[in-house]
Amino acid sequence: MTVHGIHHVTAIAADPQENLDFYVGLLGMRLVKRSVNQDDPGTYHFFFADGTGHPGTDLTFFPWPHLAPGRPGTGLTTEVALAVPAETLPYWSERLAAVGVATDAPEERFGERVLPFSDPHGLRLVLAETGDAREFTPWDESPVPPAQQIRGLHAVRLTEPAREATEGVLRDVLGFTHVAEDAGWQRYGVEGGGSGKILELRVAPDTPRGRMGTGTVHHVAFRVPDDATQAGVRAKAEAASLRPTPVIDRFWFRSVYFLEPGGALFELATDGPGFAVDEDARHLGERLILPPWLEPNRAGIEAALPPVAAPRVRA
Ligand code: ZN
Repeated sequence: MTVHGIHHVTAIAADPQENLDFYVGLLGMRLVKRSVNQDDPGTYHFFFADGTGHPGTDLTFFPWPHLAPGRPGTGLTTEVALAVPAETLPYWSERLAAVGVATDAPEERFGERVLPFSDPHGLRLVLAETGDAREFTPWDESPVPPAQQIRGLHAVRLTEPAREATEGVLRDVLGFTHVAEDAGWQRYGVEGGGSGKILELRVAPDTPRGRMGTGTVHHVAFRVPDDATQAGVRAKAEAASLRPTPVIDRFWFRSVYFLEPGGALFELATDGPGFAVDEDARHLGERLILPPWLEPNRAGIEAALPPVAAPRVRA
């Protein structure tokens, strides 16, 4: 009864068109679902993933153009690592530089080469080279060739006020084990800690608490293969006094949420049923999809959403 890696990461963007242009047009990820925030249906919810929307490949956004920028600090997921194949960082450096996206110098972390940069709204990202096997389907219509395409979520980094309480939840509730330490970061892994099964934590006791806003991660979701595993991990969260929510049907998966002791929001998301449950797998993300209980309000929801055009593709 443990999680099996990262299911998705949800972050906060500002302008929805800029968000689409960056993740589809530049990073070459597929928009596999164009929906709305189920708790705030006047806001989009965009899901960017591999060609078929495998769990573990999925970076999603709530674009809230009028929200203030977030403040980095403790109690937040402060960076998202996306997996790319070995030896592809030169391609990516050149692709990002060609459109004026500033990158930091490539770094070596835990023996892996990573390229750090920010998205247009300040979210900290790295592309991490990995040779680990991953569930991945290339997207034929991506502006990025299959050999260089992003393979999915590699790892997340959390900045925390203290180590012990969060580490206890990672270990006792989610099933992570401590794998290594590098440059002040503690690396934890599940099922051996390959790509997509990694969480890194740094303690910054003198850093003020972070604040969510544009450019910050909203939550990290962890994979559970089925409802029974979700119930088992949820029970462990409850036993650890984390007050998990009831199971919420997100239609493409079922979710449970809780705050870890440092203040970051975690989710347990089932692998199924997946993004093809309510639209043709060949046409994912092309039209606005609403969960059934919002369908009666479609006209009003569509009228309230800011219009967006097809993502602008950088060849
Ligand atoms: Zn989520």
